[in-house]
Amino acid sequence: MIKACTKLCLGGRMIHGLVEKLGFQSNLFLQIGLVHLYVVSGEFDNARQLFDKMPDRDVVTWNIMIKDLIKRGNVDELYGLFTTMPERSVRSWTAMIMGFVQNGKPKEAIDIFNEMEEESVCPNEVTVVAVLAACADLCALDLGKRIHDFSDRSGFKQNVRVCNTLLDMHIKCGCVESACNVFENMEHRTVVSWSVMIQGLAVNGKGEEALTLYSKMIDSQIRPNAVTFIGLLHACSHMGMVQEGHKYFISMSKDYNIVSQIEHYGCMVDLLSRAGLLNEAREFINTMHIKPNGVVWGALLGGCRVYKNVELAEEAIKHLLELDPLNNGYYIVLSNIYAEAKRWEDVSRVRKLMREKGVKKTPGSSSISIHGVVHEFVAGDESHPQTEAIKERWEKLLEQMRVRGYVPNTSVIVLDIEENEKVKFVLRHSEKLAVVFGLINTRNGTPIRIVKNLRVCEDCHVALKMISEIVDREIV
Ligand code: ZN
Repeated sequence: MIKACTKLCLGGRMIHGLVEKLGFQSNLFLQIGLVHLYVVSGEFDNARQLFDKMPDRDVVTWNIMIKDLIKRGNVDELYGLFTTMPERSVRSWTAMIMGFVQNGKPKEAIDIFNEMEEESVCPNEVTVVAVLAACADLCALDLGKRIHDFSDRSGFKQNVRVCNTLLDMHIKCGCVESACNVFENMEHRTVVSWSVMIQGLAVNGKGEEALTLYSKMIDSQIRPNAVTFIGLLHACSHMGMVQEGHKYFISMSKDYNIVSQIEHYGCMVDLLSRAGLLNEAREFINTMHIKPNGVVWGALLGGCRVYKNVELAEEAIKHLLELDPLNNGYYIVLSNIYAEAKRWEDVSRVRKLMREKGVKKTPGSSSISIHGVVHEFVAGDESHPQTEAIKERWEKLLEQMRVRGYVPNTSVIVLDIEENEKVKFVLRHSEKLAVVFGLINTRNGTPIRIVKNLRVCEDCHVALKMISEIVDREIV
């Protein structure tokens, strides 16, 4: 009966009652069945209650509970359950790592992996895929490289999923060459492998190589998918190749029967806006068969900012604020556009609006991974144990930057404060702190890789370029 109910997801209360009434409640086989039934019927609390009362819990029941918690994204309860597990197989460890990655907690995933290694449990191919995904999210190249070596030694290179995740990890860490190496040495390449490479080349400033790789892909008789075209459109966008972009956009539906998704529209509007074809971009939005999202309007806004089109910018902002009314980024861009057009009354109107609506800044944070440990910084952070050393090094660096003509660009700060306060703010942005921390803690000449949750501001962009030159380091 329990099996039948499980197949039909009928809920467990009634049959559970029957089991108790008949006095079968201590039968382990029935208990396992009931836990499973509760889980598939979505009665989580009942499942957990019964599970906690079970005197003997086998691996199958543990896995049912763990899988269910991952599915529901309940990471805290999952971890609690995991720590009480009497026997942990490589599968349970892997399920935990995967669970954290899927729920946007890559740092926790890596912690679990380190714990797993301490207990001398040997990772399998699925573990490797999960850990590499976490490394990609965190730009944790040192651990990523170690896993790469381990996969080579363990013969995991045959596994195309392992290879694809390796490609992705190297690309997200900005190591295009290493990714190319992995790609060249792959025995079998799927459309995912090709698409990851095309996209990776495109976003790392190698648009031409991306398009060449696409021709090779077609020559190898691999059919492109929707993701492949996102990469191609990115490549065209970054190189300002408007005509080619159009060509690919049309080819996608005409030659391959792929329905254009919101991402493709976003790329096209970006392509036109970057090229300064703002009216064309606006018209293109009108032709869309789906509702434009924040990425689409944001792309138009970006173009308006560069080409100083106040009118279209206002229209884009209107839509953006409808979609996401409390995002401070849009207000900043709008007030900058007004400021550049010397429309000061509008600037103060925007500021007033921000105050009225209670717009709060999403705190920016930057992280850097050193010797497998992830260090995270927020703007103005003084909580790190090395804060004093960071300050000292930063002051020295700042002197050298000023000699080269660096002047902090405070237009990125819209707070209504004195100019010298603004300078203080902008000089303590999280990516600057993370870079200085990286300089102190890595050997001369090694690249510094930072992950930021928001877009890097213009001042940090200029500052980091200059720092890269002064200290002769690559900054990704
Ligand atoms: Zn900044």
